Order: sequence, then structure tokens, then C-alpha cells
Amino acid sequence: MKIVPISLPTPFYIGPVNVYLIAEDPITLIDTGPKTKEANEALRDGLRKARVRVSDIRRIVLTHAHEDHCGMARSLRDEAKNAEVLVHEWETGHRVGRLEYEEHHKLLARAGVPDAEIEGMRRMYEGVRKYADSFAEDEYGPLWDESELHFETGALRIIHTPGHTPGSCSFLREADRTVIAGDCVLKRITPNPVLSPDPIDPTKRFPSLAEYLVSLARLRSFAPTLVHGGHGGPVHDFEELFNRYFRAIRERQEEVIKLLPKAGVSAWEVSRAMFPETDDVHRFLAVSEAVAHLDLAHSEGKIAVELAGEREVYKPIT
Ligand SMILES: [Zn+2]
Ligand SMILES: [Zn+2]
Repeated sequence: MKIVPISLPTPFYIGPVNVYLIAEDPITLIDTGPKTKEANEALRDGLRKARVRVSDIRRIVLTHAHEDHCGMARSLRDEAKNAEVLVHEWETGHRVGRLEYEEHHKLLARAGVPDAEIEGMRRMYEGVRKYADSFAEDEYGPLWDESELHFETGALRIIHTPGHTPGSCSFLREADRTVIAGDCVLKRITPNPVLSPDPIDPTKRFPSLAEYLVSLARLRSFAPTLVHGGHGGPVHDFEELFNRYFRAIRERQEEVIKLLPKAGVSAWEVSRAMFPETDDVHRFLAVSEAVAHLDLAHSEGKIAVELAGEREVYKPIT
């Protein structure tokens, strides 16, 4: 069972995205790239080299529903005459093309993001949405944790690895402990724990960083020999990456705790202090990062949080 990586250009800051072809029955594509002419051409080139036509694809599996990964899912499915599309059911917001605006608005307001900034973020995300088609809720099949995707000569075990997004999934080939990890594992940067409503109770915030640490530890328990990420080259030394990520997360947490004045601050203010240079496009990711670290520090009993109106205010524990 051969895993063929195909790199596709994206219009995003992160650079090219990796999709993975399993060229045996049922022919399967893991992630699709964004809906752009350039990504479409690069995908067709990659498939041609592997002697596969789009119409041969029987199954499209999504590691998660960000535009750079899921953008072409619908057009490829249509061209492949109803290949099945599988995604974890916690990827709700993006996958049906509604960004749960109300729920996000509440989460951002709780983080202390000013209304004008929220409006700017909304406009920015509307711009990004054009890189993916939306799906109706019933056009997807679910990915179940611990179940398997079967192929002619092997299988991939589905490992739910929430953190970057609630429904992020990885795929393990047990025979040689190879993992396809989407944006859960990126060679050069720690993935952003994106601010999301909790899929079980959308009025709450998904504890993205705490979940992410569990996902990393779970992947580590398989002692992977090779990890294919969503961006950048493959990771051969997962142990090194695991330790580096953990160190980076701990260091950032210490920085965040030091930024809290006695009088308290919102996550938005923390994000502006952490990333003063960020422009519009990245302010949402910056506030995601701040909230994730504050949430984790709070869940570990290292800082306090109080409500001031609908805004959360974080304070050091004295
Ligand atoms: Zn992503
Ligand atoms: Zn990505």
C-alpha cells in the first residue's frame, strides 16, 4: 500500500499543502488542496505521474475542513462520479460552509476582541471561503476514531487527533507505523490551536491546546517511524518533534503568564502584546493562540479568570 505525497500551491501564508494518494483499490485521496486553478493543475499532474485519473478516485478523506485541505473535495467528488467523502463529524462549521458566525462572535467577544476587529475578521474569512465549496450536511460520511479504512493490501487506522481543529484526524499504517497527520504535525512550526466552539456544546469554547497535547501524546504512543504532515516535509524523528513542541508550548505559557498585570487583561490584549506586528489577516490566529494558552494555564491552576460583563479577564494568582 503505497502512500504518494503530492504538494500543491496555496494562496495562503502557510505555503504549499500536502495531499496524499493511496493508489490502490479503493483509490483514495487524503485531502484535496484549495479550490484554485493552480492547485487543480498541480493535483492533476501528480495524479498523472501516479497513473491515476480523477475519475478513478473512489474515496476522498479529509484530515480536517480548512480550505487549503478540503477546497476541491466537492468538485473532485462530482468529477469522480460520486466518490465518497469522509470527514470527522466534529468538523461541522467549515464543512457545511457556515462558520457558525453567532458562536464565533460570542467567543471573540468573550476574548475581548473589539467589535470593529470582529467585523474585520469576518470579512477576511469570507474572502478565504471562496477557496472551498460548501457541502450539505448529508453529503459526507463520518470518520470514526479507531475504525479502519481498508485497501487491497492493507489498512489505515483512523486516529482522532483534535487540537488544531476539533475534528482533525490522523491515519496510521500499523505495518510500518507511518502516520498521515494533516495539520496536527508540521515539521517547522507548531500548529495553531484555532479558536472554535465546542462541538458538543457550541456555547462553550473547545479546549484546543489541552486536547492537542493529548493528541500528540497519543500519536507518540504509536512510536511513529515516519509522519506526513499537512505542510512541509515528512518528519522522521517524531520524538524530537514531540519534545520540541512540548518545550515551545511550555515556554509560550510562561511568557503569557508574565504578561498578566495584577488588574487583569483580556485574551485580545494578551494577543496584541504577544504579536504586536500582526496585521488583520493574522489577528484571528493570534487571538486563538492567546486564548489557547490562557485556557491551558487556567485549567492547570496557574492563573485566574473572571467575567467582566461578557468579557473574560485573566489575572495572575497572587
Ligand atoms: Zn488547518
Ligand atoms: Zn493546513
